[in-house]
Amino acid sequence: MNFEEHLKKYLSEKEIKDLTSSFLESEQKGVLLNEDKLSKDNFLKLFPNVIPHPVVPNGFLFNVEDCPLGKKIYHELGAYYIQDPSAMMVSYFLSPKPDQKVLDLCAAPGGKTIGASLLMQNKGIIYANDLSRSRAEILLSNVERMGLGNVVILNKDFSQFSSKLENYFDAIILDAPCSGSGMFRKLDSMKDDWTYEKVLKYAQIQKELILMAYSMLKEGGTLIYSTCSFSFEEDEEVIEYLLSKTDGKLDAIESFEGEYRSKKYPETVHLFPSLFKGEGHYIARIKKPGRLPKNTPDDIIISRKKLSKGNKPEIDNFELFLKPSELLISMSMRPGLFISSNIGKDVIYSHHYSHYKNADDSIELNKEEVIKYLRGESLNKKDTPNGYHFVSYLNMNLGVTRAVNGVLKNLYPKGLRLNAKIDDSF
Ligand code: SAM
Repeated sequence: MNFEEHLKKYLSEKEIKDLTSSFLESEQKGVLLNEDKLSKDNFLKLFPNVIPHPVVPNGFLFNVEDCPLGKKIYHELGAYYIQDPSAMMVSYFLSPKPDQKVLDLCAAPGGKTIGASLLMQNKGIIYANDLSRSRAEILLSNVERMGLGNVVILNKDFSQFSSKLENYFDAIILDAPCSGSGMFRKLDSMKDDWTYEKVLKYAQIQKELILMAYSMLKEGGTLIYSTCSFSFEEDEEVIEYLLSKTDGKLDAIESFEGEYRSKKYPETVHLFPSLFKGEGHYIARIKKPGRLPKNTPDDIIISRKKLSKGNKPEIDNFELFLKPSELLISMSMRPGLFISSNIGKDVIYSHHYSHYKNADDSIELNKEEVIKYLRGESLNKKDTPNGYHFVSYLNMNLGVTRAVNGVLKNLYPKGLRLNAKIDDSF
């Protein structure tokens, strides 16, 4: 079956034609602003050509030719995250609260985790997991760059231990792997590689994942299911499967301009690029019956011992603001906000922590110094007291440095150096 034909399951000929014609238009970029770092007013002064997102209050639409936001220093500083305008609706419609335990089961590269973390004001816990190691590493670097303080990162197959986490999470994001028709405008290869067999294969995987996710949801908890596929088989039919196997109930997504609702489940919503400025998504919100209790905030420090690069004993310290699952912490790649490493008497604050903290006590750099710092070079700053400091630009922390007799040694992570993407017009 070809792509157009398979859509006849729920769309009229006209709707199919409108949808497929929209694949010929160029991609619509979006950006999610981290208002803790950069206020909306200042962002709009810097980039007056961005257009407010019609639904998400800290979301904007932009055009790469007018403002290449990915190349600006603000991106490196974690002031925003570039994300498809339809993808940013997922965390927005989940609306997680600052006291909640949230699971983002298929989280990399991290857009929904970032959206959820900003809504939770860096409180509660998000367990952000991805099965792919390389993608989980990208997720980790995005969490660090955005300076998120409430994320535990995992690279696990949850089917191995989900039975130990039954009724555990207050909210779950299942942004499932899919055949990816919502990526047709972004990547030509997705269009070329599309087959109906692939749709059926993913639908099977999605059914397994959604049942597992639901089992880990607390009574009264909320599961948000999304795909970037336009296939009924991966969207409504997966929901139908969940509703037939569990006591879950659909919770209607609030209406907005440009939505498309199928007759089968009008409580759920399709975002089509023909109707809504974005690449396309399907979103369904499901509640488990019952009443959700509140969690009490707590300040938890987790320490991990290891050997440093020089083979000295090192203790890495992490912080969380809610009591975590010991099982998940023991398996995690990053058990929370990475504060510091203690090596002997040295306490070295992490790059992650620098992006989390405000820049009130940091050494503010000028443009030339920023470029040097990003390249991994040392900087001369007479009169800086010896020891570790954060360096900042425009009152946002860029990273860590060690001052030795007026020279700032560069501690910018090696993997991030020589970032050719930053243009020097910032
Ligand atoms: N939520 C992400 C975001 O907003 O940036 C995008 C997620 S992408 C649609 C789906 C992800 O699921 C991929 O990164 C893939 O590696 C991951 N994945 C596939 N099977 C998985 C599984 N069984 N458990 C966890 N992650 C899985």
